[in-house]
Amino acid sequence: MADTSIKSEFIKTNVTNVPDERGYYGEFGGRFVPETIIPALDELTVAYQEAMADPEFQQRLMNLHQTYTGRPTPVSYAKRLSEELGGAQIYLKREDLAHTGAHKINNALGQALLAQRMGKKRIIAETGAGQHGVASATASALLGLECHVYMGTVDMARQQPNVFRMKLLGTEVIPVESGTKTLKDAINEAMRDWVTNVRSSFYLLGSALGPHPYPMIVRDFQSVIGIEARQQILAQAGRLPDLAIACVGGGSNAMGLFHGFRDDNDVDLIGVEAGGHGIESGEHAARFADPRFGRPGVLQGTRSYVLQNADGQIMNTHSVSAGLDYASVGPEHAYLRETERAFYTLATDDEALAALHRLAQTEGIIAALESSHAVAEAIKRAPTMPKDSIILINLSGRGDKDLGTIMKELKIDG
Ligand SMILES: *Cc1c(COP(=O)(O)O)cnc(C)c1O
Repeated sequence: MADTSIKSEFIKTNVTNVPDERGYYGEFGGRFVPETIIPALDELTVAYQEAMADPEFQQRLMNLHQTYTGRPTPVSYAKRLSEELGGAQIYLKREDLAHTGAHKINNALGQALLAQRMGKKRIIAETGAGQHGVASATASALLGLECHVYMGTVDMARQQPNVFRMKLLGTEVIPVESGTKTLKDAINEAMRDWVTNVRSSFYLLGSALGPHPYPMIVRDFQSVIGIEARQQILAQAGRLPDLAIACVGGGSNAMGLFHGFRDDNDVDLIGVEAGGHGIESGEHAARFADPRFGRPGVLQGTRSYVLQNADGQIMNTHSVSAGLDYASVGPEHAYLRETERAFYTLATDDEALAALHRLAQTEGIIAALESSHAVAEAIKRAPTMPKDSIILINLSGRGDKDLGTIMKELKIDG
């Protein structure tokens, strides 16, 4: 049953005055794209602002969230885990319970509605692990839009079930054979398609990345997480959390959580990156934590922290979780870090797997490998904090998609 005490609120865009008019968050963000795409980005910016100012659009999104996505998702008190750790009380924002099993639907649905409003009947998306592809395919099916998802053939082979899900949902999955046949090649092909078919097509971007206005749009559509969670924790615990923790891939679920608490200066915001096999190994996706390779640069249309070698070549990344395995991070995270409003740390593959196992056995929740990075940070911190303190974790998704990896890594027999 929906928690009726939680007010659904209209999403407000840009309450914090970043990005500026040009799409910059301090020195990060912007638009590093071919000239041909600029008019499309301008058109999108105007259409987005008009939509957000239109109560009918907002009402429609809110209604779909309540009757389709399953919002508000609950906040659960992790009683047994908190007791075991013996310090802070841990609460979980349950995005794993949203339709399709993760937060990605919040953004996919918002952008698909926007596409419809703009009169664009064709959705273009790209996907690596397939999670954003599935969310886009889902939203497109719901709204009767045609959906084309670009995916590298190496990723298609690795992520068979998601390829099948997208096809079942009526989406055309377009195999990409160029380059390394993975996400960055899929992004290039999707961009090419958009430039060619910009009048009929809407590019549905999956994380708080890319050229302006995408990082802002994705943040705003995900901010429903933090807006709900703030009310829920106040109702359940009687006060705000001391810490709000989320994993950071491109950064959309973390931006969504953080946005709800940005003006609450007593709430520390912590983003957790993929530490892979550890910083020294070089096999990770911790853009902020490795001063040897992580520094400001441009990747896929935006300026942010990028893992790159001395010549500016993009580094290969590694994480046990596909959703955190990316060489760059959303520009607003770079800005929050620079201004010290948020802090960033990492969890290794092993720490995330151990956290996943522990949460499953204490709370009966199998979290996604991505989300388990945030749980790992809470496990490190909770014992050092007083018993009347509170940690809020964004559980961005459920672990069903990861069962194969989990069984192999934890050596559990099937
Ligand atoms: C895709 C994904 C992520 C990473 O993406 P962000 O944009 O950083 O949120 C995290 N958790 C889950 C469950 C995902 O599917």
